[in-house]
Amino acid sequence: MQATLSPPTGYRAHNSDEQQGFLPDPIAVLDEISRNFWWSWAADGAAVFRDLDAHLWETTEQNPRRVLREISELRLLQRANDPHFTARVAALKANFDRYMSAPKKSFQGAKAVITEENPAAYFCAEYGVHNSLPLYSGGLGILAGDHLKSASDVNVPLVAVGLFYRFGYFRQQLSSDGLQMENYQESLPSNLAIAPVYDADGNRLKISVEMRGHDVFAQIWRVDVGRVPLYLLDTHLPENLETDRWITGHLYGGDTETRVVQEMMLGIGGVRLLRKLGIEPAVYHLNEGHSAFLTLELVREKLAQDENAAFADAQAAVREKCVFTTHTPVAAGNDEFSPEVLEKCFGENYFAQLRLNRDEFFAAGRIDSANQGEWFGMTPFSIRMCRSANGVSEKHGAVSRQLWSKMFPSAWSTDEVPITSVTNGVHAPTWIAPAFKAFYEEKIGADWQEILQNQQLWTEKLAAVSDEEIWRTHNLLKQQLIAYTRFRTYQARHRTHEPSTNIEEAWHLFDPNVLTIGFARRVAAYKRWNLLLAQPERLLALIDNAERPVQFIFAGKAHPQDIKAKHILQELIAQKSESKWARRAIFLQDYEQDMARYLVQGVDVWLNVPRRPLEASGTSGQKAAMNGGLNFSILDGWWIEGYNGANGFAIGTDGADDKQLSDEEIDCADADSLYDVLENQIVPAFYERDAQNLPNRWTAMMRSSLATLTTKFSSDRMVLDYINHIYT
Ligand SMILES: *Cc1c(COP(=O)(O)O)cnc(C)c1O
Repeated sequence: MQATLSPPTGYRAHNSDEQQGFLPDPIAVLDEISRNFWWSWAADGAAVFRDLDAHLWETTEQNPRRVLREISELRLLQRANDPHFTARVAALKANFDRYMSAPKKSFQGAKAVITEENPAAYFCAEYGVHNSLPLYSGGLGILAGDHLKSASDVNVPLVAVGLFYRFGYFRQQLSSDGLQMENYQESLPSNLAIAPVYDADGNRLKISVEMRGHDVFAQIWRVDVGRVPLYLLDTHLPENLETDRWITGHLYGGDTETRVVQEMMLGIGGVRLLRKLGIEPAVYHLNEGHSAFLTLELVREKLAQDENAAFADAQAAVREKCVFTTHTPVAAGNDEFSPEVLEKCFGENYFAQLRLNRDEFFAAGRIDSANQGEWFGMTPFSIRMCRSANGVSEKHGAVSRQLWSKMFPSAWSTDEVPITSVTNGVHAPTWIAPAFKAFYEEKIGADWQEILQNQQLWTEKLAAVSDEEIWRTHNLLKQQLIAYTRFRTYQARHRTHEPSTNIEEAWHLFDPNVLTIGFARRVAAYKRWNLLLAQPERLLALIDNAERPVQFIFAGKAHPQDIKAKHILQELIAQKSESKWARRAIFLQDYEQDMARYLVQGVDVWLNVPRRPLEASGTSGQKAAMNGGLNFSILDGWWIEGYNGANGFAIGTDGADDKQLSDEEIDCADADSLYDVLENQIVPAFYERDAQNLPNRWTAMMRSSLATLTTKFSSDRMVLDYINHIYT
């Protein structure tokens, strides 16, 4: 078919401020597809947009909305006249239509019935759906993104609520001496796959929340994540005061007061938004305490309907609708607010609407409600307001029961504390590399994603794949990671005006045949970045071994206010003055979702060394496992559940004796274990080759890792666990 350039009838860009051209017929459907993040995990989805214009794809940071708008007319028509390309577009569209038209399921249990009319409502302060929608900082957001994608795939009726941050989270750049600099980039709605939400009269849908003594308004954006809508509240409106426009300015960037008003907007504004949309959720899922004020709004609604009811009556009813997930035992992840700041933000009026006096209100957020010296903790408050509380791995469940046992009768044993667990998982179609997806499709079947949900069948099918094929696919991805590492390093050195020989050297960094270890995570004290540097001679001996060297790729951001973490980073960067280290270790700046894909898909080994028991779950290692990477980690979070002795490597003990030891002693023992396992297990197993140059011991472990970890740590399993054990 000829590409026609007549404007398609009925075509109208959703964003009224957007002067977008029209797309030629055979590929016009890409406009619709680009507005639903389904493309990002669909087979051939990202590749179709990339192949429109590969250069633009990279410069727009894989943003289909911008590619469609910025692509040249000539390039567009070349693609529209390419029958191979248009056939791929047609297949993608057919696949999309099939996916979107599947009837919603309902899920019924003793506590709730989830249906299209009464969906589950997921609340979170951040969402990492895709790197082209920068509304996340790290693990919590990525997990929320994976939760929505799996909810869509499993087809559970679910709506999500969050905030639209104009400036998102910071982008990281390092100065030449390793000092982290943060810069915030403005996200323009017209550049993003988000759509304004209108009311029945065609006006922008808005809600308002009274805070700091006056009303603050928010407009609403909608993000489509497959079949799941994600609604975002945005206070960047002319009718708001300048300071209020900044409520949704930055993710985790503000002071305590900003934090409180953000959380009021998310929780209270979020419930008001659902009401405006006519949505009556069967269950509200609070992720972290950030959204816990939503329970107050539900109480206020109930009280407004019954002038004789007291707070406690309404609270009992609200509790039955709310479930809470705590995502970290680390203090920084558990907000606490002073009575003064809460009073300033809420105002007396709100307490009165709840039929509470000042002290009764603050008591709801204390571990010990009678202790007037205690601040208002969002985690104790959430535990009190929800019928269910859970941690994100079995270990984290146990740690949380211990941590919050103070809230429960002292006669109870820790085991009786009502905090359960659902272990985190990751969205397989998002994190498995296209090369492995194609490989599974060929070897396991077109329905590999369903088979993946069946542990036994998955293992059986995997047994039919040869070691050589697994190894070959992995190595292709590893080469891609190294090419990416060289490219990013070249760019970074160019930017900081390093000597030209250094800049050019970037193209020759690293060797695809060398054992490659990845370590990417937030730079925070408990992640123990410096553990690896604990014994420099042993480390250099490993790196510099003539026959069996090791190379390292690092990435991660420090929180802007975490000065200690920034020093840790500088110390690591300073190692580059040692030439052996500089040759075999590299730090990649600005860790985010796109970089994470390259890393988890390409490394041989994924390293994690948190201080026990502070890693609630961790998910990046699960992503590596799905791509044939072997985990090498402290037995904490998900890895205690995953590790079986044959599917990866453990560092240190299970922590049973940690109580008798100081932190320094534990660090010392763990560092020893880290080097021992590297020297005696990992390096030999990787470099031991058969006549075909295959590392048989290694590929056997890769197979074991793929077989035992992929099903168990998929977010489909996680979402089904939430539905069956928590929501209903
Ligand atoms: C998966 C992921 C995380 C979370 O990984 P952890 O194992 O919890 O460190 C953080 N950031 C990005 C970009 C990710 O992709």
